[in-house]
Amino acid sequence: MGSIVEFNCLSCGYASGNLSVGWGKAGRTRFWGGLGVCAACQRVCVVDLSSKQDTHKCEDCEGALQLLEGLAQDIPCPSCQTVLKTKNHGIWN
Ligand SMILES: [Zn+2]
Ligand SMILES: [Zn+2]
Repeated sequence: MGSIVEFNCLSCGYASGNLSVGWGKAGRTRFWGGLGVCAACQRVCVVDLSSKQDTHKCEDCEGALQLLEGLAQDIPCPSCQTVLKTKNHGIWN
């Protein structure tokens, strides 16, 4: 099962909104939500890692996303680089 997470910056007020990460019942070949950062839009977004692409593009600006490895690490705010606070909003299948 995947999790629904949200990232907030206590410094500048950035909020990612709810992001679906991980994979559901269908398995990770179907949808595998990872995290990416768009430097241009200054936002964190979900990247479907199950798609066989070398580069993942931002939905908004078509720029290349920088992938974040795993969820354990501290994720810097895309706007001010402060470590983001992670909120868990539950799970999805
Ligand atoms: Zn910030
Ligand atoms: Zn972008």
